[in-house]
Amino acid sequence: NLTIGIIGGGQLGRMLAMAAARLNHRTIVLEPQADCPAAQACNDQIVAAYDDEKALAQLASRCDVVTYEFENVPVAAAEKLSASVPVYPPAQALSASQDRLTEKRFLNDCGIPTADFHAVDSQEELEAALAAFGGKGVLKTRRMGYDGKGQRLFRGGEDLAGAFAALGGVPLILESFIAFEREISIIAARFRDGTVTCYDPAENVHLNGILHTSTVPAALSDAARGIAVQSAEKLLAALEYVGVIGIEFFVLPDGSLVANEMAPRVHNTGHWTEAACVISQFEQHIRAVSGLNPGNTDRHSDCIMTNLIGDDINDVPAWLSKKDCLVHLYGKTEARPGRKMGHVTQLLHTGKA
Ligand code: ATP
Ligand code: MG
Ligand code: MG
Repeated sequence: NLTIGIIGGGQLGRMLAMAAARLNHRTIVLEPQADCPAAQACNDQIVAAYDDEKALAQLASRCDVVTYEFENVPVAAAEKLSASVPVYPPAQALSASQDRLTEKRFLNDCGIPTADFHAVDSQEELEAALAAFGGKGVLKTRRMGYDGKGQRLFRGGEDLAGAFAALGGVPLILESFIAFEREISIIAARFRDGTVTCYDPAENVHLNGILHTSTVPAALSDAARGIAVQSAEKLLAALEYVGVIGIEFFVLPDGSLVANEMAPRVHNTGHWTEAACVISQFEQHIRAVSGLNPGNTDRHSDCIMTNLIGDDINDVPAWLSKKDCLVHLYGKTEARPGRKMGHVTQLLHTGKA
């Protein structure tokens, strides 16, 4: 049993701490917000900024290994920590995924196709890039975007005046618009000995830019499944990765896959694993970073995971009265619009004949 440092105290940190506790590991969470979701689940919290030098030194000295629950951990902090304590996933996984431009280049270098893209650093570059894509595309901030924030869709013919400034005047990326048939994701894990395990891909539906449901199995050909697995294997090896990663793909009408983005952490589209697999993505991540054996990723039931966003928290009594539903709440008191309050996984059959 180890002491595991977790940078970030949101719901993912909370679920990692819960999985760690079951294996007799201790957890120390670094999070500036004192009453964070992970506070109730960890053994101790260091209340400080993610790049606070004293806090990082304390984390390094008190932990056997450090991991994180979000992809925007400052790379410099992860690198500094790595000098005195193992940090998994490694810092290069953060640099590869924090910036959508670096991320797409990295995926392409691994032989994994993405949308075509142009870096956009000014209004002039935006106009040129959109013209090159025939007026259509998805404009995104390169950094810090999540839940579809910091994005704008162009369908052609829009008035472009002020469009660069409207997204904050920060470095942007214009991606070609992908007319996908569905979206899927794969949750993979790499262990210290190089072993890679994958859960079966989930099919994801977004509402207002936020993940709404993940359904398993996804409607996907065996060939596409194989490509998702191979893509995960390639990029995990390239990053010398340890831990769980989530990789999102668009499925085109011809069944081929185009990678959208990756998150070097446990992933919302993998929450279903806690109800439909013996070993959840959270335990798999804790096993990987703490040097334990890989858990079996088989699924014992098909399922659908539904996020509880904002006022959806009012539906909890109804979910609790349904059969075969695992309700998981994050300990957040204020239900703001768009805020992830919890999720429910409904098993679609119980495994009984
Ligand atoms: P997340 O919460 O998954 O981290 P995010 O804010 O990082 O989301 P993306 O995953 O890049 O954003 O995009 C959000 C959603 O917008 C995608 O799941 C997809 O539905 C749509 N989308 C993004 N890029 C494109 C594209 N190039 N073409 C078509 N649709 C897109
Ligand atoms: Mg994202
Ligand atoms: Mg996404």
